[in-house]
Amino acid sequence: MNKQHSINLKNDLLLRQRAETFIPGGMWGHMSVKKLPSGYPQFFSKAKKSRIWDLDGNCYIDFMCGYGPNILGYNNVEVDEAVNEQRKKLDLGNGPSALVVDLAEKITTLVDSADWALFAKNGTDATTTCLTISRAATGRKKILVAKGSYHGSAPWCTPVATGVVEEDTSNLIFFEYNNLISLQAAAQEAGSDLAGIILTAFRHDVRRDQELPEKGFLKKAREICDTKKAVLILDDVRAGFRLNRNGSWFDYDIKPDLTAFSKAIGNGYPLSAVVGVDKFRQAASEIYVTGSFWCNASSMAASLKTLSIIEEIDVVAHISLLGNKLRIGIDQIANNFGVNISQSGPPQMPLILFENDNDFSKGSKFVQYLLSKGIYFHPWHNMFLSLAHTAEDIDLTLDAVDFAMKKISLEF
Ligand code: PMP
Repeated sequence: MNKQHSINLKNDLLLRQRAETFIPGGMWGHMSVKKLPSGYPQFFSKAKKSRIWDLDGNCYIDFMCGYGPNILGYNNVEVDEAVNEQRKKLDLGNGPSALVVDLAEKITTLVDSADWALFAKNGTDATTTCLTISRAATGRKKILVAKGSYHGSAPWCTPVATGVVEEDTSNLIFFEYNNLISLQAAAQEAGSDLAGIILTAFRHDVRRDQELPEKGFLKKAREICDTKKAVLILDDVRAGFRLNRNGSWFDYDIKPDLTAFSKAIGNGYPLSAVVGVDKFRQAASEIYVTGSFWCNASSMAASLKTLSIIEEIDVVAHISLLGNKLRIGIDQIANNFGVNISQSGPPQMPLILFENDNDFSKGSKFVQYLLSKGIYFHPWHNMFLSLAHTAEDIDLTLDAVDFAMKKISLEF
């Protein structure tokens, strides 16, 4: 896998041509390969543990984990068995299976700020439901949102304004993540109409260095919500269970009122959750949110098994250790070749950016060289490690990084 090969993407290209006919734009949303540098495959045929294969049989050590969900690695045997067993009995009925209660109990046991839970499908369902609960609980409209933070693709939060009308976002007030003055100013602007503040676990906006939250900033957000009787919402969709299995702000000693989870909770099976503290149980019981597939039992079985494994095995320790090994190795290689890079955020969710690379030409070339060596990196979105990644994967990756970084040092 680690020898250089120019990637054959013949089957992928043929399928892309067909897709252009039957799918608008060939592919929509964040999984459109048109957003990536050329040479990336659009389609994949199989995956196992830390590896993913494209349609042309090229195998990659993957550092995206399906944009996060596969925290235990692809096709985890125990999770898949739990799903298959449940599917034989019932997946989707006129009401949920008993697993919904087991899962709500499990997640409230695990997550510090969870006294209750309800489930949906996507992260956007969960973040949007958090806003609805906040407005129901407070009877107010305004929500404070950090500029550039991603909370999903509903009209209130999609980063692309096409098709969105002013009214969809007219009750949002924006501030800078980690900036106390800006947060306070936004809260002041909301005045007596402040329903809530929504924050990602840390600043993981694309195309810029990641930033962990400052304790003082989180404390201020908590304080504003307490003083104004508004709701503090943690959007833990992306970081959930990778920073801390008890909730991403557990170590900061900041308790959110509502938390949105998705991605990692079902190891790739579709599920999201809204969890909250007792104070907001009543409001959560009064709103109307639902979806035809929100209660399918196979996802609940996947999640129960995933969370049980996370409870038993210190996944965070494993991915942090490997993430650090990767980060230290990449820093050393960049130093050796005199290339200036920045690596930011938690090592288990790596992001590597190049200095003076506003147009991402260096970053794009770098990931293309890695791809040619069988390593799947992302040039500007944070990446993800999983329990299935091994020290050997990191060694193989660092060999490829050595090759790619050398090329960058010679070409730029
Ligand atoms: N919030 C955050 C922080 C996310 O990273 C994402 C997905 N990338 C979402 C919400 C939306 O989740 P989904 O794509 O499942 O709707």
